[in-house]
Amino acid sequence: MTSILSTPLGHSYGEPNLCHVLGLEESAMPCQRLRPLFPPSSSLEGSRLLSLLSVGQVVNIKAKVNRAFNSSMEVGIQVASEDLCSEKQWSVCKALATFVAHRELSRVKLKPIAPRTEEEKTEHSVAAERRRLRLVYADTIKDLLANCVIQDDLESRDCSHTVPAEKTRVESVELVLPPHANHQGNTFGGQIMAWMENVATIAASRLCRAHPTLKAIEMFHFRGPSQVGDRLVLKAIVNNTFKHSMEVGVCVEAYRQEAETHRRHINSAFMTFVVLDADDQPQTLPWIRPQPGDGERRYREASARKKIRLDRKYIVSCKQAEMPLSVPWDPSNQVYLSYNNVSSLKMLVAKDDWVLSSETNQIRLYTLEEDKFLAFHLEMLVHVDATQAFLLLSDLCRRPEWDKHCRSVELVQQVDEDDAIYHIISPALGGDTKPQDFVVLASRRKPCDNGDPYVIALRSVTLPTHRETPEYRRGETICSGFCFWREGDQLTKVSYYNQATPGFLNYVTTNVAGLSSEFYTTFKACEQFLLDNRNDLAPSLQTL
Ligand code: ADP
Repeated sequence: MTSILSTPLGHSYGEPNLCHVLGLEESAMPCQRLRPLFPPSSSLEGSRLLSLLSVGQVVNIKAKVNRAFNSSMEVGIQVASEDLCSEKQWSVCKALATFVAHRELSRVKLKPIAPRTEEEKTEHSVAAERRRLRLVYADTIKDLLANCVIQDDLESRDCSHTVPAEKTRVESVELVLPPHANHQGNTFGGQIMAWMENVATIAASRLCRAHPTLKAIEMFHFRGPSQVGDRLVLKAIVNNTFKHSMEVGVCVEAYRQEAETHRRHINSAFMTFVVLDADDQPQTLPWIRPQPGDGERRYREASARKKIRLDRKYIVSCKQAEMPLSVPWDPSNQVYLSYNNVSSLKMLVAKDDWVLSSETNQIRLYTLEEDKFLAFHLEMLVHVDATQAFLLLSDLCRRPEWDKHCRSVELVQQVDEDDAIYHIISPALGGDTKPQDFVVLASRRKPCDNGDPYVIALRSVTLPTHRETPEYRRGETICSGFCFWREGDQLTKVSYYNQATPGFLNYVTTNVAGLSSEFYTTFKACEQFLLDNRNDLAPSLQTL
């Protein structure tokens, strides 16, 4: 068993503080904030339990820093179990934790880490996108509650099957003793979590009158530290029940015995419980009747969190091959679609087995062949500033200026500053009679730090306002886009990536096999476009 709280990567910077942990299985959500030491606000995103662990089984815990940002770092944690008698091994849960490094009262600038393997490169790259998602999480919930009608069927429920939320309320007090704290006297995050789980389990049992099983932890907010000698008041209540699961919320306040009225809110978490029957199937749960006021607000917020969890699971964790190429656009899914868009491209970029297929006029064509999967990328050095290249190409409406495969591009919806949906019309591809059209989500991202590329990721989405019409053959892109690396002042490495889809495969293979030079011609035209326009960015773009 590996200790997961040792100083990550040997950074000799003083104690790192756990900020949040994220369930990898659902891979994008800030779940909890934990902050045992000084930081004024940080989080721990909850892990998701994939299977149970029993007494007598061995636990293997692996933890690794995926990425160091400024003073925060993302740590990936994997818990596996093995049965010593049968040699069987299985994954128990996965989580992502964010730590903040402090020395004294000030934050520490972390050294960047250099990912080596393909997996490390992917995690490193995608960690930046997860950080972005974490930072907008509170706004996502707010938007969801403001813009979506959450099914409010409270009135129509059969009262004989409802349990008043009040009946599930639990409150307990714990005294922080030296064994609960680290050498600086701050309570271990894990200890607080264990106490929180205890009260949450009691609240859950009061609803179902059975033994509940913790399934996932979402949103641990560690807002401030607590120390040896503090009293921690833990409060829990069932916020909402769904057919087979319930959300229990827990909040923790700390106070010193001599100042009981001065309570500090140090932590909050939301836990999902299920009740399993003898066949490990989740049982149907009674409905909850929330108290008016805060109870009803929490009830609705729990629904929003559930929706986000489901969106995330579908959009983020589905293997590309198993999902339809285009996913329906829905504003409430937007952050996950964008995440999926950017992370798919970053994963493609991080692949180890790219092979240089050919080079013409200093444009390199690389290919990547995997099982039933062909991707290519073109790469060139352009004498243009990286930011300018990024801004010029992120305005897809200008693409017809250099790409003859784009006849026209219409901006359908500017989703936010960095995400937009476009309708693209392309001429018919070899032999086809109909022109093609695409509806794509373009997500652009600036680098998190030096060495990170600028990214413009593209993927198809479906929109009710832009359904397929007889006039065009609907084309789809599952993962394509641009990356820009600053190679020097006015020198940028520009790469265009594309994962071939069935409709596009023939065209790609023709180029890769050297039977056509259209890729080169188009990319050369892209270079010319960048050079011709390197000084004429619209003022509005320059400020971004
Ligand atoms: P919010 O009320 O916005 O959900 P809090 O951090 O205040 O956030 O609380 C987190 C959760 O802790 C709540 O959703 C609720 O489930 C639980 N909780 C808060 N206050 C109490 C309380 N007085 N008694 C029981 N449970 C509580």
